[in-house]
Amino acid sequence: MSTRTAVVTGASSGIGAATARKLAEAGYRVVLTARRAERVEALAAELTAAGREAVAHPLDVTDRQAVDAFAASLDRCDVLVNNAGGAFGLDPVAEGDPADWRAMYEVNVLGVLHVTQALLPALKGSGDGTVVVLSSTAGLGTYEGGGGYVAAKHGAHALTETLRLELCGAPVRVVEVAPGMVRTDEFSLTRFRGDQERADAVYAGVADPLTAEDVADTVAWAVTRPSHVNIDLLVVRPRAQASNTKVHREPR
Ligand code: NAP
Repeated sequence: MSTRTAVVTGASSGIGAATARKLAEAGYRVVLTARRAERVEALAAELTAAGREAVAHPLDVTDRQAVDAFAASLDRCDVLVNNAGGAFGLDPVAEGDPADWRAMYEVNVLGVLHVTQALLPALKGSGDGTVVVLSSTAGLGTYEGGGGYVAAKHGAHALTETLRLELCGAPVRVVEVAPGMVRTDEFSLTRFRGDQERADAVYAGVADPLTAEDVADTVAWAVTRPSHVNIDLLVVRPRAQASNTKVHREPR
């Protein structure tokens, strides 16, 4: 039998890349997917050079045909980490662009649906599968300007809770990790369409936002619990953030 295999979506940066590293360290053969082929290929090469088992597979999770072809190419899948996602804009509901809302639903909800549906047979077939969904505290509560992202992550949360009910009795755990503020290189930059100043302002004065590695630790911890232990929902925030809207910022 080949090594236990973990598929990580959105492994080209941030939390996905850090999670792939952690799971590779934990002994999994990691399959790194994202749209930017060169990024996942470079990470797979780095992990392989370090003696880990890693392969890259370019994939857009919103493209169902591509997802199905990807699933068909795998010989096994024991763990799926649905991490690909993101926010576009911080507009009030009154002004939000429906195209942004649609794009956020596509990647954060339908992306999770596509990949999970395509890999469920393999996850069940493994006899001990785990599905992880990287949702967000935006999936559990609202905040002004969050609009479309909040709606999409609530969708991801609802999908995850429903799936857990439906898979009860099957040998597949369903885990949701919901981070608060994580300072990754690209999340806020993507949200503000490349405006580095606005992206930096998100974290201004916050002593220690979470890092991608902090979140990856929680994912790897949940995945590596004994098979009968299902971490349903793990909310993780930095100490300086008590809710979506209460963040302690040091005066400048
Ligand atoms: P990030 O660095 O922007 O990572 C997003 C990842 O998703 C990238 O690897 C990106 O890769 C991939 N991706 C985006 N659209 C995709 C698509 N259509 N198909 C395949 N891959 C796609 O952000 P992050 O901070 O690591 O966030 C990772 C996850 O955690 C997201 O779901 C995010 O919503 C969630 N989260 C983040 C925070 C935070 O504060 N940073 C907090 C809570 C939850 P490509 O562009 O190469 O495709």
